[in-house]
Amino acid sequence: RSRQLGVEGVVRLSRTHSLQAQEDSRIEAVMRRALQYGGFEVYYQPVLDANRKLCAFEALLRLREEDGTMVSPAVCIPIAESTGLIIPLGRWVLREVCRQLKTWQLNGLQVVPIAINVSALQIVLTNFCTDVDVALEEFDLKPSFIHFELTESSVMPRDSLALENMVKLATNGFSFSIDDFGTGFSSLDRLHKLPVSVLKIDRTFVSRMLDQNGTLPIVRTIISMAHALHLGVVAEGVETEEQLQMLAEMGCDQFQGFLFSKPVEAARAAILLSPRELSSGSLNALPGAAAV
Ligand code: C2E
Ligand code: MG
Ligand code: MG
Ligand code: MG
Repeated sequence: RSRQLGVEGVVRLSRTHSLQAQEDSRIEAVMRRALQYGGFEVYYQPVLDANRKLCAFEALLRLREEDGTMVSPAVCIPIAESTGLIIPLGRWVLREVCRQLKTWQLNGLQVVPIAINVSALQIVLTNFCTDVDVALEEFDLKPSFIHFELTESSVMPRDSLALENMVKLATNGFSFSIDDFGTGFSSLDRLHKLPVSVLKIDRTFVSRMLDQNGTLPIVRTIISMAHALHLGVVAEGVETEEQLQMLAEMGCDQFQGFLFSKPVEAARAAILLSPRELSSGSLNALPGAAAV
């Protein structure tokens, strides 16, 4: 490879690499400070049923740099995972979501379950279940309000503690979904054995669903497989009415995407929980455009 690139190409490549490494350690430092000084925030994206009624939120992490720039979780989560920071960070997200749920309850709002993304490194921790119990106890919440999202790759290894933890948590009333379903390597046998209640169709399948020779057969297959296994199915990345209509026709249970709302800050999410918004039954009633 180096021979093909020539000396100049190699120099350019390694410079790109070291710039990347520099940027990664800068973000690592930003995250360490953010964990101490409150630079992280949780945004909430609505999940709706076929009647456009709000049925859940997904908690999505946001990192605000000191100068106000937002760092995408697509950038900071992989760095948090490779540095081990995901452990304290994951614990923070869990506690923050519980704190938020309790605050909403105390404000008299009718809360909906919140889905939390859990990294492969968290679910194999021996004390993951304890972390969950501690957070729930602190805010006196029921397990039915918390749902966990895991990707295929984090739950497929057979020798991991993942299954053990999932079974323990499921027994205690927590529920699980497989996130980005269809993009990893699932063993269907294993999927069948896991205490999972929902499959989330990856948004890359939804976005190319209506293209010529697109991903429609894949989406259709995921939906019918989910139902055959008595699992619910959520489509993520729904951006158009056409996609929504087609997904609903195929029997998809729940929907999430920019068509309804982007992930929004807690204050805006609270508006969606107020009785008036719920009874109006439509997120289109949400005043103003959503942020980020
Ligand atoms: P994910 O769990 O698959 O979350 C869905 C992502 O799709 C979110 O990106 C969301 O903003 C985006 N999205 C939702 N609807 C649409 C749409 O209609 N169009 C488009 N183009 N995008 C849409 P986000 O917030 O940038 O998060 C990216 C990923 O980072 C998440 O993917 C998840 O894997 C990870 N992540 C986010 N928060 C956490 C966290 O607290 N813990 C862990 N471990 N991972 C997290
Ligand atoms: Mg997710
Ligand atoms: Mg996803
Ligand atoms: Mg994703």
